[in-house]
Amino acid sequence: MAWHGKLLRVNLTKGTCTPEPLNMEWVKLYLGQRGLGTKYLYEEIDPKVDPLSPDNKLIFVTGPLTGTCASTGGRYSVVTKGPLTGTVACSNSGGQFGGELKQAGWDMVIIEGKSAKPVYLMLVDDKAELLDAEGFIWGETVWDTEDAIKKRHQDPLIRIASIGGAGEGLSRYACIMNDRDRAAGRSGVGAVMGSKLLKAVAVRGTTGVAVNDPKRFLDVTREKRKILDPSPARARYSGLGTMAMMDVTQAHGSLPTLNCREVQFEHIADVNVKKQHTVRKSDGEAPYQGNKACFACSIGCGRMAKIDPDHFSIKGKARYSGVTGGLEYESAYAVGPMCGVQDVEAATYASALCNEHGMDPISFGATVAAAMELFMEGAITTEQTEGRDFSFGNAEALCWAAEVTGTAQGFGKDLGLGAKRLCEKYGHPEFAMVVKGQEFPGYDPRAMQGMALGYATSNRGACHLKAAPFQDDFQRVTPDGKAKIVKDSQDYIAAIDSSGLCTFTKAAWQAPDYADQIDAACEGDWTVERLLELGERIYNLERLFNNAAGFTAKDDTLPKRVLTEPAKGGAGKGHVAELAKMLPEYYELRGWTPDGEPTTQTLSRLGLA
Ligand code: SF4
Repeated sequence: MAWHGKLLRVNLTKGTCTPEPLNMEWVKLYLGQRGLGTKYLYEEIDPKVDPLSPDNKLIFVTGPLTGTCASTGGRYSVVTKGPLTGTVACSNSGGQFGGELKQAGWDMVIIEGKSAKPVYLMLVDDKAELLDAEGFIWGETVWDTEDAIKKRHQDPLIRIASIGGAGEGLSRYACIMNDRDRAAGRSGVGAVMGSKLLKAVAVRGTTGVAVNDPKRFLDVTREKRKILDPSPARARYSGLGTMAMMDVTQAHGSLPTLNCREVQFEHIADVNVKKQHTVRKSDGEAPYQGNKACFACSIGCGRMAKIDPDHFSIKGKARYSGVTGGLEYESAYAVGPMCGVQDVEAATYASALCNEHGMDPISFGATVAAAMELFMEGAITTEQTEGRDFSFGNAEALCWAAEVTGTAQGFGKDLGLGAKRLCEKYGHPEFAMVVKGQEFPGYDPRAMQGMALGYATSNRGACHLKAAPFQDDFQRVTPDGKAKIVKDSQDYIAAIDSSGLCTFTKAAWQAPDYADQIDAACEGDWTVERLLELGERIYNLERLFNNAAGFTAKDDTLPKRVLTEPAKGGAGKGHVAELAKMLPEYYELRGWTPDGEPTTQTLSRLGLA
């Protein structure tokens, strides 16, 4: 138990919704969420398919602890072939949607084919129907889509995952949004949904989730909360949110600034967490308005914010005058220092538009930063920007860019390509701060050598969530010993990402804390060793998918800028990312050939042969 043993297969071409038993043999090897979704994707599609073709599939998948009372047990993943990267894509989201999907009795929903007209999927427990979205929600924003579905079905507790204009317009970094401001954010999973003409998945669940040993599960989850709730990590996430990281990367010299020309931002005080908590003169309020927690979460790291009513970005726009999802570190770095923008209100507005229109703020901000560099080099002119100065630091240009990209209009269509395709189009591929086509999150890899390796070997392109070398990176700027830290954390995170729990908990919980909760909830013996092996299996399966899609060791690399131009300040001053020193050791630890392919022995050991 903890799995319902049931998935829903939705064929949009045929217009059918068909329940199927979940493959419980695969559950034993891949657990749920990221692992199980990847296994289904690997078995069901050709890795070489065009991600935006009907042959790609889109998998919404929960973990065994999703929908339970385990703290943070509300996560779900969207697994597909990503249109930004061409790799396997797995985007993980919180909010309330995942818990509701599980409570409706589904472990997984597989979307395949392409609808002849825009539709949305309505799930009420085991009743599933495809309903017409044309003339109703197609063309609407994420926020209006959620409101309209709740109103039509007369139920404010329906939970909705949907796309906005970015997904409909096939932006390569479109998100799938749920609960207004939570996102399956990276790699363009929203564009896959848009390509299938699926506007939303709406769900209402009342069946609950059965666990294997209810008494033990309650005891164990209570015990784990006694570790999590008083921990310094929870206090930090809850008190300051992820935004606290900006002062850390600034001090360390790993805050990507001006499209990675710099590693520290001279105007940090205008955009950091302290600024978010500073009361404005105009309305006597601070941008920060309070916290928001995902399903069953006892941390509540999400930030709510209010934009200055006098700010140029929202003048005359009542819809942005209330409290909305606020800046998180990754969005703030991207629309702030990466673009050289020091206007926290403009950054909050741009981030809110990313939520409203469903686009990944990390990729959006980093793409705007690349466009700003292209503008400063003369490769992009006022012809593209409709007369605007698009130089670094221009807050008005950032806000305009968010508006046109979110609605896929004019130059926004170019910005929606992502940094790699944009920079190639305008003749400067070297300005794209990407790995495998995905834009950097908020860590310059020159002062963080472990992160450099983590970016280069991440199976979904540059990512800060698939490896966790942070602690060591902030202490030592050296490539020594990073391969093992990165490899071990990648496997560990792959297991957590498959459980239904949030990876932020790993700042307080250790591997046995996850194993104990899974073991109490699920049939079978779930030990730490089994989970770590399962994580390694998942990482290798993702790699097999990518290798079959055409990726090789040559793609495990970083932009020339961080490989050849030393950092100008901070702890990494004088350093470049020393990838060549780390990759051979990493491949060896993984049991991969020097060409980056898992050996037969490795595949056999992990049950992948
Ligand atoms: S820690 Fe933050 S992101 Fe994770 S489940 Fe809780 S509120 Fe959501």
